[in-house]
Order: sequence, then C-alpha cells, then structure tokens
Amino acid sequence: MDPNHALNALRAAARDLDDEVLARLIADLQAEIDDRHAPIPVAPGRTIADVQQTGGITDRQEYVRCGKSGCRCARGHLHGPYWYRYQSVNGKLTSTYLGKNRR
Ligand SMILES: [Zn+2]
Repeated sequence: MDPNHALNALRAAARDLDDEVLARLIADLQAEIDDRHAPIPVAPGRTIADVQQTGGITDRQEYVRCGKSGCRCARGHLHGPYWYRYQSVNGKLTSTYLGKNRR
C-alpha cells in the first residue's frame, strides 16, 4: 500500500476520534513500534542464515535441528535453511513456516 495514501486515510479516520480514544491509539502505535524492535529469540539448535525485515514482519532463514537422535543434524549437519515469518499478533510473537523458498 502507498504510505501516503494510508497516512491520509488514517488521518481522516483519526479526525473523528475524541481525545481519550486518540491517546489510546497513540499508546497502541508506540507499543507496535516497540514490538517490532524486540529481539526475536533463536530456538535451541538453530542458526540464522539471513534476516529480512519489512514493517512489522521479520522473515528469517534458519538452519534447524529435527530432534531425531540418529540424524545427521544431531552431529551438527543442520537441515535447511528454511524461511520463517515472525510477527506480533495482539502483542504475541507468532512464527509461520514459509518453506525452503519464501512464498
Ligand atoms: Zn535431523
């Protein structure tokens, strides 16, 4: 979406809000920014190959361990890399598997 178009639509909508609701909106937006800059933890046994951030979405390419004791990854030859998408939904960090190539 064109950022100027989005900003104009948001400003138009905000004009009708009373002060209290507007103050809550500002606090929510600040929390959204804070969430974006919170470090995303790395699961045990994984290593990061690449990171790409767009707005509140972080796509991260990771080498992973499957957990099977006899597998090559248990000896350090990890699987992947695979892409995962991380984003905050209602203040909670979610992770979505995207695959070998991002879709
Ligand atoms: Zn494995």
